[in-house]
Amino acid sequence: MNGFNCRTCGEYHSEMPMCLGADAPALWYTLPEAERASRALLSSDQCVIDNEHFFVRGRILLPIVESDDSFIWLAWVSLSAKNFKRMSELWDTDGREAEHPYFGWLQSALPYAESTLSLKTAVHTMPLGERPEIEIKSEEHQLATEQIRGISMARVQEIVERALHG
Ligand SMILES: [Zn+2]
Repeated sequence: MNGFNCRTCGEYHSEMPMCLGADAPALWYTLPEAERASRALLSSDQCVIDNEHFFVRGRILLPIVESDDSFIWLAWVSLSAKNFKRMSELWDTDGREAEHPYFGWLQSALPYAESTLSLKTAVHTMPLGERPEIEIKSEEHQLATEQIRGISMARVQEIVERALHG
């Protein structure tokens, strides 16, 4: 993917990022910085806070219409303790993608008019080496519509400009 002329700042950005997202679930950012190390375990895939809140990081794919590409939100969802444990046990197991989807609450605030926090999701386990895929189940939300119907490149640019410039 090539660069684009940004309508927000007027500059040419040499790359259009096709994948954006946060490095930690929303709750993690609310912890006082001094307490994060003692209260939370955070990796690039999983997060546990206070031994009580369990999160995994997955991908929300938004197919780009008339293209084979997708724009990807890297996002966090919370799982029940039971499902988090189950997913962790199967982490290195061949064929783990046969697992039924897990219910999860979206725990990433993505830049949409209506909040994306606590949208209902289904978390699909993928083959070894691939991040889980997140299916948005709150059907009335724009994010769900975009996942089902796909988005245009113009919409990708709009998302990227907002992410770059707030
Ligand atoms: Zn710009």
